[in-house]
Amino acid sequence: MYNVFMAANRNDPTRKASSASDFSLVEFMQTYPDDSACLDRLWRERYAPDGHHAQCPRCERERKFHRTKTRASYTCDSCGLHVHPMKGTIFEKSTTSLQLWFYAMYLMASTRCGISAKQLERELGVTYKTAHRMMKKIRTELMTDEGDEPLSGDVEVDETSWGGKPRSTHRTRAEAAAFREAKPTVLGMVERGGRVRARVIASRRGVPLSRAVKANVNPSTILYTDDWRPYRPLKRGFIDHRVINHSAGLYVDGDVHTNTIEGFFGNMKTGMRGAYKKVSPAYLQSYLNEYAWRYNARYQRHSMFEQLLLRTAHT
Ligand SMILES: [Zn+2]
Repeated sequence: MYNVFMAANRNDPTRKASSASDFSLVEFMQTYPDDSACLDRLWRERYAPDGHHAQCPRCERERKFHRTKTRASYTCDSCGLHVHPMKGTIFEKSTTSLQLWFYAMYLMASTRCGISAKQLERELGVTYKTAHRMMKKIRTELMTDEGDEPLSGDVEVDETSWGGKPRSTHRTRAEAAAFREAKPTVLGMVERGGRVRARVIASRRGVPLSRAVKANVNPSTILYTDDWRPYRPLKRGFIDHRVINHSAGLYVDGDVHTNTIEGFFGNMKTGMRGAYKKVSPAYLQSYLNEYAWRYNARYQRHSMFEQLLLRTAHT
């Protein structure tokens, strides 16, 4: 199938939301057909850009290296020192093959709504326990916003509770409110046309809420929130604070709205319910990071898999 829209997209250098497709499964399999190809990629990425020459720590100069025959390492031609490309990465000490790790990263990066451990177990042919452990490692060590710059520009902020809506068994408004209050609160912050960040906060009231906003958003920002009271003190911390009056039934007033962050919440909740069913509060933050990571990775220069790979190679 080929149509004018696709023709237009081909010449459009900006990445579309379906950017995962720019590194297809077929390309992935061709690039990484076995463990050796994966190891070679790590070796080139971390030590030897040309695949053959690297700085030898023992010779203290650049030397030619060759692949060690029976180990996952490369050997200095001159002094025999072994260099292990997996050392210090999430793959070190794992008994799971490097190609399966790469494939797991590919699936987690490119599956839009997230992938369950059960699904990964089937895809990789490993045990559920192994699939679960791999996902946790990839999620907590590679899919984080640690070290990223604070958000800036036009930033929408909103909060939501995680873990179900009040039910009809909560007959009074007070009961429904108490139910909501007992659930973890997720604060979402998003740059219009840019990055998102989500944080589990201790309370949707007062200090925890405004502190989290200040910790994640640059002061030279225009904030957009609804009229929830605890947002009010933020007016002082930012160049402007525009408020949409949700309690009066208003949702959009010109460019004053929080639709972008609400859209992110919607996708995240749908995806998490589908892929993970129940998420315990202790792990909620790392799952939020995973969804935020995918949202933020969409428009980057490298494919989403490549971004994960570069992260593990260089941290
Ligand atoms: Zn050497």
